[in-house]
Amino acid sequence: MKALYSQLPAIDSLLRDPALQPLLAQSGTAFITRQLRGMQQEARDHIQQHQSLPHWHASWPDEALRRAQQQQQSALRPVFNLTGTVLHTNLGRAQLSDRAIAAVSACLRQPVTLEYALDDAARGHRDRAVSALLCELTGAEAACIVNNNAAAVLLMLASLAAGRDVIMSRGELVEIGGAFRIPDVMRQAGCRLVEVGTTNRTHMKDYRGAIGEDSGLLMKVHTSNYQIQGFTHAVSEAELVQLGDAHGLPVISDLGSGSLVDMTAYGLPPEPMPQQLIAAGVSLVSFSGDKLLGGPQAGIIVGKKALIDQLQQHPLKRALRVDKMTLAALEATLQLYRQPETLHEALPTLRLLTRSAHDILQQAERLMPALEHAFSADFSLAIAACSSQIGSGSLPVERLPSFAITFTPRDGHGSQLNALAQRWRQLARPVIGRLQEGKLWLDLRCLDDEAALIRTLVP
Ligand SMILES: *Cc1c(COP(=O)(O)O)cnc(C)c1O
Repeated sequence: MKALYSQLPAIDSLLRDPALQPLLAQSGTAFITRQLRGMQQEARDHIQQHQSLPHWHASWPDEALRRAQQQQQSALRPVFNLTGTVLHTNLGRAQLSDRAIAAVSACLRQPVTLEYALDDAARGHRDRAVSALLCELTGAEAACIVNNNAAAVLLMLASLAAGRDVIMSRGELVEIGGAFRIPDVMRQAGCRLVEVGTTNRTHMKDYRGAIGEDSGLLMKVHTSNYQIQGFTHAVSEAELVQLGDAHGLPVISDLGSGSLVDMTAYGLPPEPMPQQLIAAGVSLVSFSGDKLLGGPQAGIIVGKKALIDQLQQHPLKRALRVDKMTLAALEATLQLYRQPETLHEALPTLRLLTRSAHDILQQAERLMPALEHAFSADFSLAIAACSSQIGSGSLPVERLPSFAITFTPRDGHGSQLNALAQRWRQLARPVIGRLQEGKLWLDLRCLDDEAALIRTLVP
């Protein structure tokens, strides 16, 4: 054992090793010394437990380089999203347009007029530029931008109804993934939730009967990630506005996704549009920036100026406001909506959602030969029809026809399949598919760069 310990190289001499000099120049002595100390400790432990040297003892510089590279890898790694879910929350939702990316990069390199009004050198408002665009696109009087739609709902409730009753249908008490639950948000905002109606049916008389001295708001929430079907009834926003007007109560609506264009024009399932609710007289409408809108993470609130002013002045707004990167990306994204003719090409979210099954099938056929060649020893490969999802709770029951390349283990063992999926998750640019029915599915709907996928999977 002693003889083994004495074979461990000294840190000093490793640091002088010519093979390590490029790494030292790149990553710094302190960082590399830490790697080497860690390796030394590991080697000692290995000797104690196994009475042998670790396998990497043959080349300490190579192992140090491998470890340094691994540690310097970003925790936010680009991946191939072949899950079939376009707006995948765990993979960062919407991919931004080139225009939005350029706008973010420009605003990071130079000082910008974030809160500076050029006409009179006075302090401007940070939501100003984006508000004007949002009003143009939705017909609203004013707008307010916060960190995400959850923040938008919290801010609306806290500003307009703290300490008061918020009347809502039982059928709309939604939970969105990641612990956004309407009753909890109400509590955080200091509001009292007054549930009316039943799970499947809520009527005008239910809302009317709940209005009293303590009422602060009438609220609608879009049930974006589930649908209640069968014997159902809901009160529309327009009807609720009449009731609200009669009692001097604002009506607010959490749309969740919301789309500024008519999705059916692109052959996609219908999704409520903020401009429709504004036209129906709803006081405030909130929606996400990174769902169907295809922009950065943000919560967008549009509606009546007097109420938006109240939100802008609430202390929570300061805590929930967005930074210049978000505003730049959002502004550039919204500008694309001024040109609806080109939106399906310019906006990646819409481009991916509207890709035809035929186009995806052709892509699968192009990829097959190289993948067959690399994997057919252990797996049988096939092109199979499948269904993509929009994701992020949008249109949950609607599916988009797509195609996948499937990998079925020849020996029928699930362990081989799991090993393949795991190996692909460990790649420099991980490939994320879907395990289903004893196969690994690569849904190609979101594959932009075929050549890069082949380079990654077939080295
Ligand atoms: C997605 C969603 C939210 C949360 O939006 P985030 O932007 O993820 O914070 C809130 N309400 C509804 C109805 C949603 O669909």
